[in-house]
Amino acid sequence: MTKIVKSNDLNDAAKCLQNGGTVVFPTETVYGLGADALNEEAIEKIYKAKGRPSDNPLIIHIADINDIYKITKNISDDAKKIMEKFWPGPITMIFEKADIVPNKVTAGLNTVAVRFPSNETAQKLIKLSTRYVAAPSANISGSPSPTSLKYVCDDMVGRVDFIIDGGNCDVGIESTILDVSGDEFKILRPGAVTYEDILSVTDKIKDDYKDVKDVKTPKCPGMKYTHYSPNADVFVVMGEKEKCQRFILDKISNKTQKIGVLAYKDSKYDGADYVIYAGCDMKSYAACLYDSLREFDDNGIDVIYAQFENSNGIGVAVKNRIFKSAGYKIIEV
Ligand code: AMP
Ligand code: MG
Repeated sequence: MTKIVKSNDLNDAAKCLQNGGTVVFPTETVYGLGADALNEEAIEKIYKAKGRPSDNPLIIHIADINDIYKITKNISDDAKKIMEKFWPGPITMIFEKADIVPNKVTAGLNTVAVRFPSNETAQKLIKLSTRYVAAPSANISGSPSPTSLKYVCDDMVGRVDFIIDGGNCDVGIESTILDVSGDEFKILRPGAVTYEDILSVTDKIKDDYKDVKDVKTPKCPGMKYTHYSPNADVFVVMGEKEKCQRFILDKISNKTQKIGVLAYKDSKYDGADYVIYAGCDMKSYAACLYDSLREFDDNGIDVIYAQFENSNGIGVAVKNRIFKSAGYKIIEV
């Protein structure tokens, strides 16, 4: 039985973490599915609830900066600068792991991913539990990460002990992941803390994140990437607003299936079966992306055209997620 509780009622959920149970909690990025990071049986429950392959490591969440020294080793001065500037906040860092961290959390790697979330409910829960809390996103493996209570419940009721209602997540996409375990720092996953932000603190980072599409064409056109995907078929339509609009409107006028459009920058799509407006900048696009993909599914949409335009900053992260949601089906207009 899954108990759903309000964010001002955290005591039982914290006890549940202490006793090796699973708790879904809000963060500023997406909802996390948490368990005691030092308890191997508890960690197994996370993988089981998500249906996640156990070779995919988890992020450990802390709510006290001093805890970082207990679960990692050899933190460089530049990594400390990044922690000071962006924690608590939406960036995860990869460090050499301390011996107490079980291999189950890191999937056998000698590094560990750590994040200090800024969300107050997340901080309160972690502090009350007096544990380090391992937590991937609270979705069934492969689906878009949940950023609202409704979609957490769709995936997780019956699979976890507690769900904490924290309303909607502000950022809407997962944290930036920055590997600071080597001499050169590397962005492994783009997020709300951008390349430019990191570069303002350290010169140990050389490049922004590059998507597969930007590096090389995927080997075969039908190549299936099932990350962040709704049931509907997603196509990214990328380019100037007017060109995107023309292409998508043409698809709508010739449609044989139910078409949904994720519209950007006030584009109009009369005749589509379902339209969601992602706003006029990439910050609002990020905030609504995952919920929108699930909302199209709720409304029986077969094909989603996501209007997109390249930009830097958080646009790099939105592009990364939307490309994966679409299984790299990208139409450049
Ligand atoms: P999520 O499951 O959505 O919270 O994402 C967690 C991601 O963090 C995983 O997909 C991993 O790719 C990444 N990660 C966690 N630990 C490590 C690590 N030690 N080294 C590299 N990546 C990591
Ligand atoms: Mg995830």
